[in-house]
Amino acid sequence: MAKIVIFSGAGISAESGIPTFRDVGGIWDNYKIEEVCVAGCLDTNREKTIEFYDKRRFELENVKPNKAHLEIAKLKQKYPNEIAVITQNVDDLFEKAGITDVIHIHGFLKEIRCEKCEFVEDIGYKKIKDIYPNEKCPKCDNLLRPNVVFFEESASLYIKAYQELDDCEMIVVIGTSGGVVNTDILIQNRYSILNNLKKSIYINDELYDDVIYKSATEAIDEIVMKIERFLNV
Ligand SMILES: [Zn+2]
Repeated sequence: MAKIVIFSGAGISAESGIPTFRDVGGIWDNYKIEEVCVAGCLDTNREKTIEFYDKRRFELENVKPNKAHLEIAKLKQKYPNEIAVITQNVDDLFEKAGITDVIHIHGFLKEIRCEKCEFVEDIGYKKIKDIYPNEKCPKCDNLLRPNVVFFEESASLYIKAYQELDDCEMIVVIGTSGGVVNTDILIQNRYSILNNLKKSIYINDELYDDVIYKSATEAIDEIVMKIERFLNV
């Protein structure tokens, strides 16, 4: 198990131009969250839901990792076993930065999976229909879906993530409001760093050892320094 867990959310990818739910404008204008991101939406609104994730996957192709992803990748390369990278993001910016074992607790946009069996496939930036014209699983013929966790669905990777979190000695929280995953609970009994652009109503920042209110790219050098110091004590 890793000594240090870096736990990130939308804030780390925002500077690469990936819109968050709360951003106004762009792709989100044509979709309601409750129609395309909530458990059951594939049953009631399949076409629009598939279209929404196809578009987001397509958009990912030209998005580049920012300094925060790149610095974390460098650190991970230097200390492969000491650091675990867990993210709530479904984008591939950590992968583009060179990390191969990111734990995506809310799924991974480039992947599709079968609704019934274990089939999972990375389809790159393509639409599901481009690879499987009738959107059916090649193994069992049931319907395929984006391998993304919708609101109110359970996340199977939480177990793996919590194992890492349970065992680690230091947690670095970057770019998350704490609204979906309560980070205040995760940091108990270990050294913790919080980096967000601004204060969040879901996070009690008094619980954290270090608090940095800056963008992730502005804060990353300081964070890397603190991590290296912690590892080299
Ligand atoms: Zn299947």
